[in-house]
Amino acid sequence: MDPIELAKQTEICKNCTNIVVGKGNENADILFVGEAPGKNEDLQGLPFVGAAGKNLDSLLQKTGLSLNDVYITNILKCRPPENRDPTSEELKAHTPWLLKQIEEIKPKVVCSLGNYATKFFLAKGNIEEMPKQPGITKLHGKATQITIQNTPIKLIPLFHPAAIIYNQSLKTEWEKDIEIVKSEISKRTLF
Ligand code: URA
Repeated sequence: MDPIELAKQTEICKNCTNIVVGKGNENADILFVGEAPGKNEDLQGLPFVGAAGKNLDSLLQKTGLSLNDVYITNILKCRPPENRDPTSEELKAHTPWLLKQIEEIKPKVVCSLGNYATKFFLAKGNIEEMPKQPGITKLHGKATQITIQNTPIKLIPLFHPAAIIYNQSLKTEWEKDIEIVKSEISKRTLF
């Protein structure tokens, strides 16, 4: 089935205000992938426009990137009620759309934001394998080479920008990881 139609059949898609597809440059080399739209994203139809988005904006600014250099999306395209965690049915129904985006954008670098996005990439898109993957606390800031959808990418796992809002120790780690993103994207071999 067409990946967009598949996602649209889920309850979260029937009940959301807007389907949040993504923002930025569809030809960018760098893709940021979060978990799912929150309340503000649902209302505006754009990813990362709320408090977490401010942290992501600041990361982009510190790494010298603009929206023209990146594409930003989520693994789920619709907001789960009360921002609950994605179910495996939702992941199975929504991630084919993300895989289609990866196929089209062909990013060279993916910054996965938080546990769900990181585990999705480490599991190479296999939802059943996601729980077996190590968590973000262990992996954040460690760049690793993977291939997904026949696309070789450098995966840079990062904490979710919402997780650092009220946690100073994660914020400190996040700031260090920003330096890693900066250094990884400046490596000429990438491009
Ligand atoms: N959190 C996410 O994972 N994605 C968004 O778009 C907003 C908040």
